[in-house]
Amino acid sequence: MCIRDRYYDEKIPEFEAVVNEYRKVLFQSPYLDFVKDRIGAAAIKSMELSMKAFDDSLIPLMQEENALSTRYSKLIASAKVDWEGEELNLSLLRKYMRHENRKIRKKAWATFSGFFEEHQQEIDEIYDQLVKNRTKQARMLGFDNYIEMGYCRMNRNSYSREEIAELREQIKKVYVPFATKIHENRRKRLGADQLCYYDDCVYFTQGATAPIGTPEEILAGGQKMYSELSEETNAFFQMMMDCELFDVLGRKNKATGGYMTEIPDYGVPFIFANFNGTSGDIDVITHECGHAFQYFISGKDPISDHNRFITMDIAEIHSMSMEFFAEPWMELFFGERGNDYRKMHLEDTIAFIPYGTMVDEFQHIVYGNPDLTPRERRQAWLKLEQEYRPHMDVTGCGFMETGAYWQRQHHIFEMPFYYIDYVLAQLCAFQFKIKMDTNFQEAWGQYMQLCRLSGSGFYPDMLKESGLNIPFEKDCIREIVNELELLYQKM
Ligand SMILES: [Zn+2]
Repeated sequence: MCIRDRYYDEKIPEFEAVVNEYRKVLFQSPYLDFVKDRIGAAAIKSMELSMKAFDDSLIPLMQEENALSTRYSKLIASAKVDWEGEELNLSLLRKYMRHENRKIRKKAWATFSGFFEEHQQEIDEIYDQLVKNRTKQARMLGFDNYIEMGYCRMNRNSYSREEIAELREQIKKVYVPFATKIHENRRKRLGADQLCYYDDCVYFTQGATAPIGTPEEILAGGQKMYSELSEETNAFFQMMMDCELFDVLGRKNKATGGYMTEIPDYGVPFIFANFNGTSGDIDVITHECGHAFQYFISGKDPISDHNRFITMDIAEIHSMSMEFFAEPWMELFFGERGNDYRKMHLEDTIAFIPYGTMVDEFQHIVYGNPDLTPRERRQAWLKLEQEYRPHMDVTGCGFMETGAYWQRQHHIFEMPFYYIDYVLAQLCAFQFKIKMDTNFQEAWGQYMQLCRLSGSGFYPDMLKESGLNIPFEKDCIREIVNELELLYQKM
């Protein structure tokens, strides 16, 4: 989680004002068509949306909005809970919440829940102020509420609320029953009478899959894997190692977090992480390297570098699909539990779609009805839980029973309407997974095509050009479900 300080909370909106001035000049320029030709119509459309959602008069409110979301992230990041005499933060507690021993994970959940119950009033208050603040900003610019403004800020340049609403319906109708079946298999494997909240993200009675090697061996495994996957990935990983573009080993006083970023002056990607001996270390080698690989192969021309305008619904396809392309090499990292990893990964990604869609629907309810009380918001979440995750029994968890579980999802506070991008991207990554099962090379070729297209076009057009179906188009969800079911049975 990235924590800003007060300086950035105040300066970012002021900086946005300068960028907005630049956009205005650009749009009045007689060379606009020429620029459009070089950077693409999607980039121009995104800029137009950004202008629609900004005005200098919003700066004080935007500063307050930033301060509120910083207050939330600080509250979560500074949490200290007592775990058997040891002081832990919430992310370290997660390991125990997924422990193979059911009693231990139930207890860890009680500790986690206890923190949120204790701070519920404060978190409710922060969120209430955020919703009111964003609604006020939207109304100042003539929007009915924050939904459309949020779409503009997320650069939704090629689909609307209606298409997302249609996607949600398909998820509820076709996808949730499928996910429920997958959970039922997991229940049997775990030997539980009923899947409870503390069985979430637990896949095996013998514990989670963890990498078998040292950090150096994981990097060496990455090198071997990418050298065999394709010529392009071989060149990419070699360059990353030669230029020392990984900073992934833990050391004292190192900042937390894990991400891919860029060193623009050199036109190279850079990966930052903290290896900690969990399967998350391998996600760095697959997911973050997926982002980095795309950056590596996309154009480096400073003007037509389409990476500048890439939207998250596309960028996350690069990374989430790489997780699947890497699967045949998982024995390098997990030894004889390679197959367990693949099974966990598929079940985990399948389970994500209902959750991600629920997070998005919740935000539509909240911003569509900005006068709901905190209690009414929690009731709305509770209803969504029943629609999207009917397999889960939440009895006994104060945090979940009161409908407050969303309070742990930082995107809801910090990046409204971001979450559906992950859903849209995961649904495309599934399509690559399905394709690679019958023709790995063809799937790889289409993936390369998508990576090269970068941010040059609109989401639906670039999917079509890469042989993918558009998730909100008719029957797409049903087809994905049918094919995934077959793949799952083969595992
Ligand atoms: Zn990512």
